[in-house]
Amino acid sequence: MSDEKTIFKKIIDKEIPADIVFEDDLCLAFRDANPQAPTHVLVIPKQEIPSVADLADSDAALAGHLLLVARDVAKQLELDGGFRLVVNNGPEAGQTVDHLHIHILGGRSLVWPPG
Ligand code: 5GP
Repeated sequence: MSDEKTIFKKIIDKEIPADIVFEDDLCLAFRDANPQAPTHVLVIPKQEIPSVADLADSDAALAGHLLLVARDVAKQLELDGGFRLVVNNGPEAGQTVDHLHIHILGGRSLVWPPG
């Protein structure tokens, strides 16, 4: 991992603004700057973990917490008709920010499979 802060670390440190919809000691949820659906939110851990592939077994509680926060944010944002959680891992999957994040997408019909 490079020594330079990722854009998400700068958001965690409040060095750059974000439209934050939820925050606790462990994580942050904020609206994506380039939304792919009417509702597009990213849930990220405050701990700097680059990707799913970098999760340690000891991160199990944190990983579970992120999923439950995604559940709660979807409810908070009234995605009652359905929503999709996406975690891109690595360049071939389209990961562009090397800080673990769960996309929450909702507010429209979503096709399957994704591209
Ligand atoms: P990835 O492609 O890595 O799975 O997702 C990264 C996401 O971060 C993209 O959907 C992109 O629009 C979003 N993103 C990149 N930079 C910023 C930023 O500075 N602020 C916010 N809110 N979202 C960002």
